[in-house]
Amino acid sequence: MPNPVSRHSKSRRDKRKANWKAYIPANFAKCSNPDCGQPVLPHRVCKACGNYKGNSVIKVKE
Ligand SMILES: [Zn+2]
Repeated sequence: MPNPVSRHSKSRRDKRKANWKAYIPANFAKCSNPDCGQPVLPHRVCKACGNYKGNSVIKVKE
């Protein structure tokens, strides 16, 4: 079994983990429109159907 020659310090490990945040996508909520259900960013209009809080807010080109 290959073993690491030297253990990485806590500082070095945590520096690596600090950069993970950038790669984790933002929290997605489901679109409030039951016919759509697309993942949308919270507090933002759905790009797929133009719904926000159950109301059609913008027209979306089809
Ligand atoms: Zn939608």
